[in-house]
Amino acid sequence: MSPPLRREGALWIGAEGTRWGAVIGLEVHAQLATRTKLFCGCAYRFGAPPNSLVCALCTGQPGTLPVLNAEALALAVRVALAVGADVTPLTTFDRKHYFYCDLPKNYQISQLAAPFCTGGGITLGSGKRVRLTRIHLEEDAGKAIHDRGPGTLVDLNRAGVPLIESVTEADLETPEEAVEYLEALKELLQFTGASSADMEKGELRCDVNVSVRPEGEPWRTKVEIKNLNSFRNVGAALEHEIPRQIGAYEAGDPAGFPVQETRLFDAAAGVTRVMRRKEGAVDYRYFPEPDLPPFSLSPAFVEEQRRTLPELPAARRARYLAELGLSPYDAGVLTTSRAVADFFEAVARLSGRPKDAANWVGNEVLRALSDPAIGASSIDELAASPFDVAQVIELVRTGRVNVPGARTVLRACIQGGGDPRELVRSLGLEQVRDTGALEAWCRAAIEGNPRAAEELRAGKDKAVGALVGAVMKASGGKADPSLAREILLSLVGPGDGAPT
Ligand code: ZN
Ligand code: MN
Repeated sequence: MSPPLRREGALWIGAEGTRWGAVIGLEVHAQLATRTKLFCGCAYRFGAPPNSLVCALCTGQPGTLPVLNAEALALAVRVALAVGADVTPLTTFDRKHYFYCDLPKNYQISQLAAPFCTGGGITLGSGKRVRLTRIHLEEDAGKAIHDRGPGTLVDLNRAGVPLIESVTEADLETPEEAVEYLEALKELLQFTGASSADMEKGELRCDVNVSVRPEGEPWRTKVEIKNLNSFRNVGAALEHEIPRQIGAYEAGDPAGFPVQETRLFDAAAGVTRVMRRKEGAVDYRYFPEPDLPPFSLSPAFVEEQRRTLPELPAARRARYLAELGLSPYDAGVLTTSRAVADFFEAVARLSGRPKDAANWVGNEVLRALSDPAIGASSIDELAASPFDVAQVIELVRTGRVNVPGARTVLRACIQGGGDPRELVRSLGLEQVRDTGALEAWCRAAIEGNPRAAEELRAGKDKAVGALVGAVMKASGGKADPSLAREILLSLVGPGDGAPT
């Protein structure tokens, strides 16, 4: 294998110093979060026993007729609105023909001539707009299972599940931009409620098109990499494929030049390998689906989707900065998913303290969420509710418990549930604010730390820290540190008590 090429921003520098650019287009299939399939009443559930979620229609039996799922259309329109696409007033379905054992009808109902929307795009952090060519609705195929015995097994549970396929213009130039685009798209799908976009369940699947050229020349042959199952693999596949293409051109032998083909990424080896020569659209013999009439989307239907669209992540981040005074970092962390953002906003509203809410959710709650020992895959699965977190904030604010104690309370609440006020009591974490008890600890601290007390008397305010520390230790961490500080200062403040 040739040595890796030097990168300069969006350019790869060839062996002879030639500056190569890459152009990347992405096709993403996302599974819509409908209750039933696109054209029949079957529910779909990931991991259900094979062929248990099927009917005559989604197994392609003769005499069945498709009925369009209005919920799928509504979710698709929500995505269109979120990316600023134009919703097509009259949308039609087409048959895309190919033969494979997981496709019982031998064609897929998709959209070619009049997809439900056109245009739109997603803006990256750099300000670059990645344009969308189109988004269309289509049904998923079943699953062919090749590794469980001598033959191939077919599971048709997934056949007929609604997908939207989004296709970008070739606006992306680097692996990093491709990954950023995908993360933003996933966020939009989740925020709009259109898809939970869980890649581990195959709800989001990416195909990548990539070609290269020496700067200023026409683009060379486009190569497709299919079935990338994680964003990391999209990045890694491009890191390999772009230098592979450049190396092939620089080697100079036309027999070795990239050809129009579909490749697969071998993540373990970090290389792409040829899968098949690419079909053109003409090979699919598209024609209008005769069993589905053209659908007109009324302005009222589209308006209803627009009206119920939640605030999108970029808008939420801007609002967190402007109205709640959060840092860009906190705003980013708290909008990684709609569930996290909603949770944070509920805590902020219930506690009336958005910055404290950002701290507790952004640190303690998200840490628990990523802790495999707790085993939650979504923030909603944690035993602690936004109300519980707001209560913890309130307990700290009113001095019932100090911050380390509050962390213990919240962890206990996340692990086993329970009322935070009760937990403060049952865990014995109630902060001691009784001045008599505090004063006794303070006097003991002064006696036990004569040097710190002397420095404090001499006006070195920093010395109070050591004394507060001694009080906290003596109290088993339960003393109210700010009250202890006040008492210490009053006992041995500068010039206090020891006139010389
Ligand atoms: Zn069915
Ligand atoms: Mn497709």
